[in-house]
Amino acid sequence: MNKRLTIIGGGIMGLSAAYAALRAGWRVQILDRALAPTQASWAGAGLITAANPERASHPLERLCGLSNAIYDRWSRDLLAETGIDNEYTRCGGFHIARSRGDAAALAGALVEWHDNGVEARWVEREELCAAFGPGFDPKHSVLRAAHVPDERQVRNPRHLLALRKAIRQRGGELVELAAEIRLVRCDSRLIVQMPDGNELTGETLCLCAGAWSQQLLEPCGIRLPITPIRGQMLLYHLDRPLFSSILYEGSRYVVPRRDGHVLVGATVEEAGFDCDTTVAGVEELRHFAASCHAALGPKRMARSWAGLRPASFDGLPYLGRLNGIDNAVVATAQFRNGLQLAPVFAELALDLLRGETLPSEFDIFSLDRLAKV
Ligand SMILES: Cc1cc2nc3c(=O)[nH]c(=O)nc-3n(C[C@H](O)[C@H](O)[C@H](O)COP(=O)(O)OP(=O)(O)OC[C@H]3O[C@@H](n4cnc5c(N)ncnc54)[C@H](O)[C@@H]3O)c2cc1C
Repeated sequence: MNKRLTIIGGGIMGLSAAYAALRAGWRVQILDRALAPTQASWAGAGLITAANPERASHPLERLCGLSNAIYDRWSRDLLAETGIDNEYTRCGGFHIARSRGDAAALAGALVEWHDNGVEARWVEREELCAAFGPGFDPKHSVLRAAHVPDERQVRNPRHLLALRKAIRQRGGELVELAAEIRLVRCDSRLIVQMPDGNELTGETLCLCAGAWSQQLLEPCGIRLPITPIRGQMLLYHLDRPLFSSILYEGSRYVVPRRDGHVLVGATVEEAGFDCDTTVAGVEELRHFAASCHAALGPKRMARSWAGLRPASFDGLPYLGRLNGIDNAVVATAQFRNGLQLAPVFAELALDLLRGETLPSEFDIFSLDRLAKV
């Protein structure tokens, strides 16, 4: 008989876990409160950073590389299954520096890319102008730049649509509730309390509630420190696509979609569960956009939004079983890499749910580390 899995949270993590489980022959239901547009998975930019799983020096970097390979497969399969193109593309990225300090940091990043087996090289202004057109860097303030050809992107709202459609087609249930579900603890098991008062006992659970994971577990007396980190984003609309590569400056970026839309992000702020944009945040990003490309003027700005990234106390994701609980695995807190890491976390979570032990290099993500804080 098929094993049955209940997933709490229908963001990228929950949907990816469901898709992986359905592919492996499980029966799956996903429980989410009515899906809000400010869900981090919708709000994100869809950057998929370059990573080489064979040469990566850190397990998180290795997981990024492994996830990229799963994106290659899943994107093909999702297109064939659903007809939805998630626009997963190896578009390449240019990283720019405008101060001596940032140029030194970029030189350090270049060494790190090389050490980790990621192709990267310095480029001159002519190459940047060729990639981005005559509107690039209108004030001529870029000092140095590097090109990383293996940077990728996925159009995350479309990827979410494709996952939802594929999940339904494969017989998975997506239950969108008007209110939050609650968990209660009964000895070594977690029980799901539905908003209508019904209880689901005997479920195998995968907890993927993103920034709200701590709130979900608190009533059970389980501590899972998560800080919501707000990210604000702007959307521009150009009449036609002017460039196809991603432009990065430190933690900010410009991401061109295929149809002329351009995303500009993102702020990194601690603002609790406040998911509104702010005048200061939008202004900062508008200024950044205009400094990158003359086409990104205020008249081209179409909308802005914000989302909450789930961050753990030490910056590493949580992946593992909860101490003293037999029927649940947690997969969350991927912070700025949640869209990228979801496929590989989904497959590893499934291994844990099957009772398997993960390779010891991934112990750093285990929830055992909470005992020490
Ligand atoms: C502006 C911005 C830019 C980003 N850019 C990138 C990027 O380029 N690349 C990248 O890899 N990552 C990026 N991220 C990070 C990424 O979006 C997140 O790490 C990821 O989406 C988290 O996914 P999730 O499924 O864990 O959480 P979410 O997408 O937040 O989903 C959690 C779900 O759980 C549900 N839920 C919570 N509590 C309950 C409950 N009690 N009952 C029922 N349902 C519940 C919520 O309704 C929600 O649907 C970005 C994030 C932001 C905000």
